[in-house]
Amino acid sequence: MASRRDFLKTSAGVGVGAAVGLGKPASLLGAPAIRRSAVTPVSVASGNGLESVATAVSIVSGGGDTLDAVIQGVNTVERDPNDSSVGFGGLPNLDGVVQLDSSVMHGPRRGAGAVACIEGIKTPSSVARDVMRYTDHVLLVGEGAQRFALSMGYQLEDLLTERSRRRWIDWRATMSDRDDYLTLEETGHAVPGSSRQEDYGLGILDSHDGVRPQGTINCNVIDAAGDLSGVTTTSGLAWKVPGRVGDSPIVGAGLYVDNDVGACGSTGRGEAVIKTCGSHSVVELMRSGMSPTDACLEALRRIVTFTVEPRLRNEDGRPSFNVNYYAINKNGEYGGAAIWSGARFAVCVDGGDSRHEDSAYLFERNG
Ligand code: ASP
Repeated sequence: MASRRDFLKTSAGVGVGAAVGLGKPASLLGAPAIRRSAVTPVSVASGNGLESVATAVSIVSGGGDTLDAVIQGVNTVERDPNDSSVGFGGLPNLDGVVQLDSSVMHGPRRGAGAVACIEGIKTPSSVARDVMRYTDHVLLVGEGAQRFALSMGYQLEDLLTERSRRRWIDWRATMSDRDDYLTLEETGHAVPGSSRQEDYGLGILDSHDGVRPQGTINCNVIDAAGDLSGVTTTSGLAWKVPGRVGDSPIVGAGLYVDNDVGACGSTGRGEAVIKTCGSHSVVELMRSGMSPTDACLEALRRIVTFTVEPRLRNEDGRPSFNVNYYAINKNGEYGGAAIWSGARFAVCVDGGDSRHEDSAYLFERNG
């Protein structure tokens, strides 16, 4: 039987198209419908990625690798104790434990790596890259992911900041008047108006799910040669059931890169993105010729169609949550879209400053 290495050798010898395409012409194998020779480097990210897109563009403009660029871009946010949606300082699960998810894709190498439910490591995106680089696997989870990270020299650290712990304790106090935890009013921590949305920062702006805080960072980049990479990293849904995995570490859901076509990532309700293979759908729609913005909107329409559960629909029958997509195509055209109005994404085009742009949307949010 041929080994995996033999197969790779053979593939390289005869050309990947012929090896996997069983003789079909390249045009039927998803060859890009869109391609220009010169591309202006550009990076797009979720709204909390303003610095990340600037970092990513400056790295690729200096000749750096596209994946190194996006990972360095998000590492700063992962290490920031004040961003409660990602890495260090991320909001914990039901038990008060921070569990992180991340995936990366390297366009030119057709590489993918991911970790899910990893605890105690501040930069899961770098661990995801190492899964891609140093193992024959794509996704490591939980204790195995942590053991792998430690073997690679990462430090084990307590990721729960005092601020995140306080919010978890306050949340626990709101859960029931039938357990032994005192209510917010009884502990004196009640906030007038009580939605506490002001506390939830960018996560709640980017990713609405009622008043439940969420948040993630996705960052994608294209360099002057037209090579693409992307990363998505998150602490996931706050107060989640321990062991829950969202869309962020699922290749094809929270992130997808096809170096012939484009890159896409998501934030928002991960369960909806997983069920519709969200980012992969966006890339396939771009392959068929749609602009990044139109492709994002079309993939969001699929989420609306898939949302049949009454508990997830508002009084008009529309999703009661938000999902955002961020996409770049092979020409360096980019776009972002959300189910609900009011979302923004971060963008940096080579030669300019990073800025926020309004995301396209399906439905206008009232008020
Ligand atoms: N997509 C993330 C998840 O479901 C959360 C978010 O982006 O707000 O884990």
